[in-house]
Amino acid sequence: MAEVLVVVEAGVKKVTLEMLTIARGLGSVSAVVFGEADTAKLAEYGAEKIYTASGEDVAGYLVAPKATVLAELVKQVQPAAVLLGSTQEGKEIAARLAIKLDNGLLTDAVSVEADGTATQVVFAGSTIVKSKVTKGLPIVTIRPNSVTPEAAPASPTTEALTVSASDADKLTKVVERVAEQKGSRPELTEASIVVSGGRGVGNADNFKLVEELADLLGGAVGASRAAVDSGYYPHQFQVGQTGKTVSPQLYVALGISGAIQHRAGMQTSKTIVAVNKDPEAPIFELADFGVVGDLFKVVPQAADEVRKRK
Ligand SMILES: Cc1cc2nc3c(=O)[nH]c(=O)nc-3n(C[C@H](O)[C@H](O)[C@H](O)COP(=O)(O)OP(=O)(O)OC[C@H]3O[C@@H](n4cnc5c(N)ncnc54)[C@H](O)[C@@H]3O)c2cc1C
Repeated sequence: MAEVLVVVEAGVKKVTLEMLTIARGLGSVSAVVFGEADTAKLAEYGAEKIYTASGEDVAGYLVAPKATVLAELVKQVQPAAVLLGSTQEGKEIAARLAIKLDNGLLTDAVSVEADGTATQVVFAGSTIVKSKVTKGLPIVTIRPNSVTPEAAPASPTTEALTVSASDADKLTKVVERVAEQKGSRPELTEASIVVSGGRGVGNADNFKLVEELADLLGGAVGASRAAVDSGYYPHQFQVGQTGKTVSPQLYVALGISGAIQHRAGMQTSKTIVAVNKDPEAPIFELADFGVVGDLFKVVPQAADEVRKRK
């Protein structure tokens, strides 16, 4: 069975586990790690082989050396497919890889079938597109939160790759790394609970209410674009078509009307709870539980109840 290369996102993010799950339907799963990764996790989710590429030529530069390493590996093992995360870095590596191999590329897929057909969900979830790479092998980037990761323990072998970055790969050097200040909250796209606030929250200060409920539930905080555009919350927390896609077990929408572009980023959440004072708000069409009411009255009561049950 041909290998399927899965390019591991640093820290083994959820999207990596999703890619490993998808890859198992396409061939024998090989993970490609740049730098360090939790190899036990990769094994747990079905990696039968782990390629590692490390050293200054990888860590000291941006994505170009990674694309070079991958291109060499593809030529060597002739994989059935290459999967990368639809993240900023994943897409950039994928694009460079496709150019190096003079190969087709599909981005933002939510699944890939055994014959290489990729499914993309576009126009805010209203249209489903099936596409196939017609030149070369399927190089596909997978959108985070597309499938539920399923464990399938394997006992991988490991192989260290030789990294020989060219001068052209070294044109952009990493001069400094600054660790982003992280709070105790889970990352938005990885969280199993997300509490989001919309324009109905009213101002930036009131977002404390959203944060408080999120913290009590151990969840992440999200925001609608209207809330972000109004300066209530930073852009990196925007959920929706032009923001992040989340698919938690529980999504709580506070003062969010439920516009199609917002839904595009959260409609696959397992359970959706909405609080909105307008009984006609479209979010209620989607919600599993809806509270018609003023969020400034409902949320403190909900928070009190959660506190009592802790
Ligand atoms: C190309 C494009 C891309 C877009 N991408 C995104 C995206 O990624 N994400 C996104 O979210 N939007 C996106 N939008 C914008 C989207 O169309 C909506 O404008 C936006 O989602 C509305 O945000 P909202 O629900 O917070 O605000 P509104 O639509 O103004 O809704 C606010 C809601 O709060 C309720 N409310 C007010 N006060 C209270 C209260 N005290 N208690 C309870 N409820 C209250 C109101 O009844 C109302 O339903 C995009 C639009 C376009 C055109």
